[in-house]
Amino acid sequence: MKEGKLIIFSAPSGSGKTTIVRHLLGLPELNLEFSISATSRAPRGEEEDGKHYYFISLKDFKQHIKNDDFVEWEEVYRDNFYGTLKTEVERIWAMGKHVIFDIDVVGGLRIKKKFPEQTLAVFVKPPSVDELKIRLKKRKTESEDKINMRIAKASVELATAPQFDKIIKNYDLDVALAEAEELVADFIGIKKKEA
Ligand code: 5GP
Repeated sequence: MKEGKLIIFSAPSGSGKTTIVRHLLGLPELNLEFSISATSRAPRGEEEDGKHYYFISLKDFKQHIKNDDFVEWEEVYRDNFYGTLKTEVERIWAMGKHVIFDIDVVGGLRIKKKFPEQTLAVFVKPPSVDELKIRLKKRKTESEDKINMRIAKASVELATAPQFDKIIKNYDLDVALAEAEELVADFIGIKKKEA
């Protein structure tokens, strides 16, 4: 396989997208490899260079932009840039694997636009904005302002759902995982294993 597929999972935070991506990565028959993004932000906690992100300086990031080295990039927060390097996708394809992305809605849709045929873009939908609000309030870790900011962002992100190829409703995690497996298996052209 010279050029594999691109599998994108995007969603508002709290909808379970990372759990789904981790589950899929654990299924060898799907032949997936995680796309490590480059970022200009500093590592946090246990994060490792080349595992969670490629941590690079702002100067280097801007040079990569100038060189047209990115498939997509975004200034998510001021001076905090994130992006997928073309070399990352090539690295994974050279391994004979398909690329799976856990990135935000804007980045996900950009990749879909660039590689329409090769990309499966999946949106993971939480039960409702009200449910998200209830969960955030229950956690009692965020101020009212922060909760409102998250809700506002989630509403904007939810509005992009129809632009994705598929929508998975994550109301029941087991159902969502099975659905994700089937969608990816279908897209990469393998038969889903018998239950
Ligand atoms: P964090 O700093 O919490 O790891 O990530 C912040 C945001 O950047 C998240 O919404 C995450 O989805 C997004 N992000 C991570 N990697 C990329 C990337 O390669 N491209 C884009 N567009 N966003 C990314």
